[in-house]
Formats: sequence, structure tokens, C-alpha cells
Amino acid sequence: MQYENISAVLDMLGCPNRCRHCFVGWRPNPKLTESDLRFVAEAFRPYAKTLTVYDWNREPDFGGDYKEKWELCKELSSPDRPPERFELASVWRLARDGEYAPWLKGLGVKYVQLTLFGGEELTDSFTGRRGAYQDILKAIDVLLENGIAPRIQAFVNKQTVQELYKVEELIDRLELEKRCEGIGIPFACFVHQGSCDGEGEKLYPIWVTSDDLKKIPDKLAKYTLKHFNKRTIQEVFGREERELYRELIEDDTTESLGSTAPAVLYIDGEFNVTPNIGVPSEPWLLGNLKTDGAEKILDRLKGDKSPAQYVRATVPLKELVRDCGDPESKRLFGREDYIEYLLNRYCRREAQE
Ligand code: SF4
Repeated sequence: MQYENISAVLDMLGCPNRCRHCFVGWRPNPKLTESDLRFVAEAFRPYAKTLTVYDWNREPDFGGDYKEKWELCKELSSPDRPPERFELASVWRLARDGEYAPWLKGLGVKYVQLTLFGGEELTDSFTGRRGAYQDILKAIDVLLENGIAPRIQAFVNKQTVQELYKVEELIDRLELEKRCEGIGIPFACFVHQGSCDGEGEKLYPIWVTSDDLKKIPDKLAKYTLKHFNKRTIQEVFGREERELYRELIEDDTTESLGSTAPAVLYIDGEFNVTPNIGVPSEPWLLGNLKTDGAEKILDRLKGDKSPAQYVRATVPLKELVRDCGDPESKRLFGREDYIEYLLNRYCRREAQE
């Protein structure tokens, strides 16, 4: 079995936050070593023409040796498939480590994404860490001082939508449009609902509905359309669950995710491997790299052998939505996100039975 590329993504140190929308879920922070990362890279290397290695799948650059880790990931990755930055960085570190932003700038980073949920109290609460909001304020200044633009994202649900005006006020108060213009980078921000999986699935009771969209402040809406290149805010947030339900209840199809998905593999602190098409949890488990080895894990990926993949490959959509959907709900989802939400719910139900 030979893949064009495998991305091996090891959660070496975890994350300082416990966000309520976190799709990777809350797990203890591991403390893995350089030799663990080398082990992971060498385990997968024989099965791909090119390999890309990451030392994080939660908070990037969380450890004090972030520069060495970045070099190590490049060394372990194929020269033509090096790791990417994805415009993500450690807010925690930006607020504490004076060398960090200049280093990011040196890598050519133009934007860093920062996440707000409203004002200070709500942002700290949804980030799961007291002081998170103040760290974001510090990070904004540090980024701009170093010629990097902060890109603001705000998650929308029934609680946070009430405070989006505070995000807009902050953008105005800190003059972010003008300051970004000053460093020659257009200001960017956007709002969206995230995906209803991992910890985020617990937000289903307060999930955004179509009548909430009019509460999104004009400025945030305008930048959101630009960011997603959409014409209406409804297009950004997707369709009502009841509409998707009506569509899927007629849908007999199944899908083999393993035969089409790129091999991007999340490896947790105990070397459990899940594909990034799902969430790092039991239904998506492909095996343990230490005890099963890479070949068996890749075989399970390709053969739809994780429980969630098996369900998706054998249970028609109409059955998933009949058992786990709500035909009356006005909650908003993209179609694929909704299918994944149904799939995760279905798997959990099956496991409980
Ligand atoms: S969403 Fe990101 S920052 Fe928040 S807890 Fe999850 S990994 Fe950490």
C-alpha cells in the first residue's frame, strides 16, 4: 500500500485551553519527546511517496522548544511536502514570549487567527481558560508590532450571538482596520458556527438557527462574506436541519470515506490513531501505532474498518437521519457537517445499545 502523501500529526504537548467548540476534544496534555516524533515519522514513511510531519494537532508551538520542533518536523518531512503554518499560532505564547512573533514573521507568516466569542467573560468561558481574552488583546498588539495581521474569527451560537456587537466594538476600539492597513495587509475577520462534533456537539442545544442570523452585526457580516467569498450570510451558515432532513430522508446512498480520504492521521499522546475526516474519539479509532503498527492502521483506513467509517459505508443516509435527525429543527448546518454530526450520534447510540 503506497499513498501519494501521508500527514502524521502527533499531539505532543496538548493545549492550554479547553474550548467548548473543540473538535479534537478534551484530553490530558501529553508530554512526548523528540524520539516519539521520530518513531511516528519512521512508522509511516514506508507507506507514502511523501510524508509530512506535525508535532501538534491542538495548540501549535505550545512548548518552549517550538523553534527546534519546527526544524525537526521539516527534517522528518519530505522536502517537497514540508509542514504548513495554516495561519495558526499559539496565542498563549504570543502573550508571553517576546521572541515568538518575530520568529513567525521570519517564517513569512502574514495572518494569525484569533478566536473570540463576544466580550471578556464569554470568551474566557468558551475558551475554557481565565485570562484567554487578555492574552488575545496582548497577541493583537504583538502581532501588529511585528507586521503580522490578526485575523479575528468569532463562533456563533445562541449565547454568543448576543455579544457579537462586543467583537465589532473591539475591532473599532483597537482600530484594527486602520492598523492592518498600516502594515500593508487588509484586515480580515469572519463569523461562523463551527462544526457540531467533538466537544462542539454539546453545543447542539444552543446551535445557531436561521432567525439568529439577523443579529450578526453589519460589519462582521460584511467581512464574513468577503472571507468566504459568498453572497449571503445564509450561504455561509448553510441550511436548516429540517430542510436537510427532508433531503436526506430520501437518500439511499452510503459512502466509502477510506477510499477517497487523504491519509491525514491524528495520533494522540497514547499513540491511538484516528483519521482527520472524523474526530479523535472511539468511533473513528483505527488502532494504536505502538501495538498495531502502521500497516494495519492504513489497511483499516482504506477498508473503512473504523466503526464510524463502517457505518457510513453500510448504513444509508436516510437511516442515519431517521434515527438521529430532527425534522422540525431550524438549526443551521453545511450538508457535510450535518452528515458527520448524524454519523457521530448514530455511532454513539450503537455503542450504547
Ligand atoms: S479548539 Fe484548539 S485551542 Fe481550543 S481547546 Fe481545542 S485544540 Fe485547544
